[in-house]
Amino acid sequence: MSDENERDKKQAVIRGFMLKCPSCGVGKTLHKYLKVKDNCNHCGIELHHASVDDGPAYFTLMLVVAIIFPLFAVIYTNYDPNPLFVALSLMVVATGLALWLLPRVKGVFIGLQWASRLYGF
Ligand SMILES: [Zn+2]
Repeated sequence: MSDENERDKKQAVIRGFMLKCPSCGVGKTLHKYLKVKDNCNHCGIELHHASVDDGPAYFTLMLVVAIIFPLFAVIYTNYDPNPLFVALSLMVVATGLALWLLPRVKGVFIGLQWASRLYGF
């Protein structure tokens, strides 16, 4: 494989996180929150090859846990809050964070698949 056929994985990951097409960086990869578009509306590459299954959901869960659990330690070492308030407020933060991260992580997976030429990309 020659260098001109190499696809920049770092750029594809960044574009995927920004919910942009991994090829052109302009078009969108998703519509209706998590549905993968058939084609990029800017450069026209086929995006329907993406097969990410449950990977983004598991990875998003790991990220949210890695962010939320240290917050418990920070809150309880610096303050003495009501445990029910902390649990409820961090549940809201964790839910919001997961909903924000999930499409971005899916975009990263699509970008990596595109850059690695997996599943027909
Ligand atoms: Zn495109």
